[in-house]
Amino acid sequence: MKKVFIVVPCYNEEETIEIYYNEVMKHLTLDYEYNICFVNDGSKDRSLSIMMELASKDKRIKYLSFSRNFGKEAAMYAGLEAAKKSHADMAIIMDVDLQDPPYLIPELIKAHEEGYNLVFTRQRNRHGGSILSAFFSLSFYKVYAFVTKDKGMAHGARDYCLLDKKAVDAFLAIKDHERFTKGIYHFVGFRQKVIEFDYAKRSAGTTKWNFKKLFHYAILGMREFSRFYEYIPKIAAWIVFFLLCYDTGKGIYTAVQANSYQAFDWNPIRLDCLFLVLFFVLFYLFRLLYDVRRQTQRRPIYIEEDSNLDLVDNDEAE
Ligand code: UDP
Ligand code: MG
Repeated sequence: MKKVFIVVPCYNEEETIEIYYNEVMKHLTLDYEYNICFVNDGSKDRSLSIMMELASKDKRIKYLSFSRNFGKEAAMYAGLEAAKKSHADMAIIMDVDLQDPPYLIPELIKAHEEGYNLVFTRQRNRHGGSILSAFFSLSFYKVYAFVTKDKGMAHGARDYCLLDKKAVDAFLAIKDHERFTKGIYHFVGFRQKVIEFDYAKRSAGTTKWNFKKLFHYAILGMREFSRFYEYIPKIAAWIVFFLLCYDTGKGIYTAVQANSYQAFDWNPIRLDCLFLVLFFVLFYLFRLLYDVRRQTQRRPIYIEEDSNLDLVDNDEAE
């Protein structure tokens, strides 16, 4: 029987863990072997003891506890590492607050059986949050798509997804310390499918994210998967270039009007040239820094999907 390993990051979730457990159990079919791995991300409340209690009653429940709060990204990484160690055929990452509806689990698995390596979910409609947060959220997805050229990450994309063995290996091969999972999914490639669902309210407790944290996370995503900072001197250089054209044109026009070469004003031109050089230098400096970063990030140069290299070796051995 195939093994499904469900990874559930939890941070101060004493109010939601049991609700989640009771709900998710209703959607686990008998034709797969399931494990639910709660990752306790340094909770300061009773989360860990609740996980331990559930584990003592139900053998399918696993837990893994961090020494402090490392963030949801680290929790997802640790959970997938555990999935690999337990030789699971597929892993599913989901939130504990039921905002990632468990009724989708059979649908995710079905898509996997159809041959998809990565099956994502997307929230079709937004919650009743403020207009401002809806605006920022939409703007983020638009800017992100523009700077990273990743058109796959649609507005409302969740971390809730299924990864098969190959996708788990690829995900774990990316050792970025500052992680942005949704960007990693695009980077690893493979056959991907999106499943949409309607917004679900948090079962209990409150969100662990605030505007500041979300804003930093958004900037991080763009920085890690695009040459985000390079755009700043690049745009500035173009602006100065147009200014230079304008000042030159204006200088020539004044000189022609006055019918005197002396009337040509060199001062704005000098200033424009100075800034143009400055922004060029900055642009190449950023480019250099990105190259240095790429080396230190040690992301895989490529990710293999299939090969018959082992077969060739075996044939030769015969
Ligand atoms: N979470 C985590 N570590 C953190 C913050 C959140 O493991 O530092 C978990 C949290 O317990 C939940 C999931 O990540 O299972 C999503 O968090 P939350 O519901 O607060 O985010 P939102 O749904 O508001 O984006
Ligand atoms: Mg939530």
